[in-house]
Amino acid sequence: MKKPLDILIIGAGPIGIACALEAQKNNLSYVVIEKGTIVNSLYNYPANMTFFSSSDKLEIDEIPFISSNAKPNKREALEYYRRIATSHKLKIHLFEKVVDIGSQETVFEVVTEKSNYFTTNIILATGFYDIPNYLRVPGENLSKVYHYYNDPHYFSGQDIIVVGASNSSVDAALEIYRKGGRVTMVIRGEQIGERVKYWVRPDIINRIEEGSITALYNTEITEIRKDNVDILSKNGEKRTIKNDFVLALTGYKPDFQFLEKLGVYLSKDAKKLPDYDTTTMETNIKGVYLAGVICGGMETHKWFIENSRIHPKRIVKSILAKK
Ligand code: FAD
Repeated sequence: MKKPLDILIIGAGPIGIACALEAQKNNLSYVVIEKGTIVNSLYNYPANMTFFSSSDKLEIDEIPFISSNAKPNKREALEYYRRIATSHKLKIHLFEKVVDIGSQETVFEVVTEKSNYFTTNIILATGFYDIPNYLRVPGENLSKVYHYYNDPHYFSGQDIIVVGASNSSVDAALEIYRKGGRVTMVIRGEQIGERVKYWVRPDIINRIEEGSITALYNTEITEIRKDNVDILSKNGEKRTIKNDFVLALTGYKPDFQFLEKLGVYLSKDAKKLPDYDTTTMETNIKGVYLAGVICGGMETHKWFIENSRIHPKRIVKSILAKK
């Protein structure tokens, strides 16, 4: 068996990178395994997205994040995190997915699509952006239905349904409307989400009130077909509306199967909160730690870059104490 690493970090998102920096600073042997590119989730965010946090709140290890805007955009964030990874020569193996984890006494064997690694500790920083919350309605598998949104140009001159009323849905609805798409928002609740960025919320509400964007509150999609979509209101009213594309931006969730396979306890309720010690971030499996957004289970808004930046220090402190 190869000499085990002190830490194997799964996921090179902002928090996985912060864990790598902390491990490196403390002379721990480590490697980060990432199934895509550096900060893969951020890379797949919408092209024109703006963070709700100011750049100082997205900084890791107090490395300055300079942005020319009050709130940084995706391009700037990619520059920032990539530059940290390259200038600190972080040991990150890209485009290598972790597919299995086994254990022999105190050593874990982490199996990827390309290799296998031995480690005494694992940090799961795998985020939540890979598995969409599906609508589970007939027609959702049609090619006109998207669970990720990138750019508005494609939707110009088309009848678009945007499902949801959170930041992602509101950003998409506004952008597409401004590029000439006819947007209808299908919203399960009775208002635009309260967590929508404070400078965007008045914009969407005004566009709805003036009739530029249609909002159908208290409604859900029940079936999607090639040229139209069925909508059902909470009061039982059904209607069919003309439609070219559906953007089902109803959120994403962590890979619970992966956690369960590892033996990490999840709460039995709908929140599926993983079990971990909040002072060390160690789960019920000794040597397996959680960092970043994955800590919130289905409550994916609970942990984000700003407030997860404390996780790496807690974890490394715990690992150093064991050594
Ligand atoms: P992620 O960034 O999701 O990184 C997880 C990584 O793990 C990914 O790169 C993924 O490819 C990799 N991975 C997953 N499974 C495997 C596997 N099996 N093998 C190998 N690698 C794997 N937060 C803020 O603080 N401020 C903001 O303004 C803000 N704005 C946001 C705007 C949008 C549109 C969205 C969607 C989110 C926003 N967030 C914001 C939330 C923030 O981006 C996430 O909380 C953050 O990315 C979490 O970082 P992470 O490192 O925990 O996870």
